[in-house]
Amino acid sequence: MHTTPGKITILLLLPDARIHKLDFGLWRISFREAPLTLTTLAALIPGELDVKVTLVDESVMRIPRRGKYDIVGISCLTGTARRAYQLAKHFKENGSTVILGGIHVTLLPEEALQYADAIVVGFAEKTWPLLLRDYMHGKLRRVYKDTSNDVSALPLPERRLQKKGHYMVPNTVFATRGCKGSCSFCSVPAAKYGWHKRPVSEVVDEIRSISAKRFVFNDVHITQEPDYTREILKAITPLHKEWGGLASTRILDDPLLLDAMEESGCSYLLIGFESFNRDSLASIRKKNNKVDEYRELVRELHKRRITVQGCFIFGFDHDDKSVFKNTVDMVNELKIDIPRYAVFTPYPGTEAYRTFEKENRLLHREWYYYDTQHVVFLPKHMSPYELDEGFKWAYRETFRIPASISRTFIKGKSFVIPFLGNLAYKLYVHRLYTDANRFPDLNDLKRMKYGNNIRWGVV
Ligand code: SF4
Repeated sequence: MHTTPGKITILLLLPDARIHKLDFGLWRISFREAPLTLTTLAALIPGELDVKVTLVDESVMRIPRRGKYDIVGISCLTGTARRAYQLAKHFKENGSTVILGGIHVTLLPEEALQYADAIVVGFAEKTWPLLLRDYMHGKLRRVYKDTSNDVSALPLPERRLQKKGHYMVPNTVFATRGCKGSCSFCSVPAAKYGWHKRPVSEVVDEIRSISAKRFVFNDVHITQEPDYTREILKAITPLHKEWGGLASTRILDDPLLLDAMEESGCSYLLIGFESFNRDSLASIRKKNNKVDEYRELVRELHKRRITVQGCFIFGFDHDDKSVFKNTVDMVNELKIDIPRYAVFTPYPGTEAYRTFEKENRLLHREWYYYDTQHVVFLPKHMSPYELDEGFKWAYRETFRIPASISRTFIKGKSFVIPFLGNLAYKLYVHRLYTDANRFPDLNDLKRMKYGNNIRWGVV
């Protein structure tokens, strides 16, 4: 927790996101990049306001629950919404003005309004400073919605206010926001952000301002407009940084871009392969992913000494119980350095959610479980319990030590990132198997509208 001096006290909060964090008693670490949300909101506080601001990422820090704050700003995802609402209630009862924002609030503003004094819908870059000025003048509105979606001329995030030792990668930058894709399960198109890019010079200046050698782009994929990406990569090459980010499988079509990535210091890419089943890819409109080309893509990245984190989803309507073993076999065979698995999750506002709702297949609407690590719907070719077991089994088998070693020891390629990634997921497997909370209470579920027709197996 870090605090600046000032008269108005503001607490900026990210509620606990249980996934992707490791807890070692007093010390917690997120094995992802440091989030930009809080440091950006802190940087956007208008200079004329005399503010004392405290940032807390609850995944890795403790909330000062007895602290008194004039304003508490909470940003939430769907999986952290329940916690966000609990915290909102707590701080409202203690006299704070509570503001809620984040993608879940954008997807379900009416729900969030029940818990907040005001909400921020969409990007906060323009509306957050406006909201604070309205608060100062006693004119706080209920809803602040940005329609400009302008991501230029942004102040540098207040990185000094973030605890660095709690993140695998402490320095995060974004170049683009939103996505041009329309995958049916994804909350990014559902939030209707569109796609926006920052001026190249601003992105490069920000990267230059980071004293550390390593940083990560947190764009949903950095290569959506290859010419724009090329411009950034060319400009950062002389900085001799090392970076990671997210990219589409289509980078295989552009060997020159792959070369530019290598030259500019790319050491790690996260790629949404999603499935080895063509029908599953078609069902979520991810036809750009060509299963036949996965092997070549991984080979091309390894040739350039780039570590591959591959994301795969279980629970598509075309998946039966064979999907778990098939996927584990393929990630080992293709030598995907750090596989990452998710359970198909129909986020509110998405096409997938509407379809499942129509087909009466949502088990419940308890957002806490909508985090890609829990089963929240009735799969077509297995029970929810079988999907959960298969998901955990796939994780366990994938991160057995011999499998990790044979996937990640590749001649000429650094072993550091794959080693740390595999170690972190090995520890995560333990957490998955000791999580007693894989489903909400069954008795409660049975009382719910969608709980009556569920084949549960033994939970
Ligand atoms: S899954 Fe990835 S490519 Fe598809 S819409 Fe979401 S962010 Fe875009």
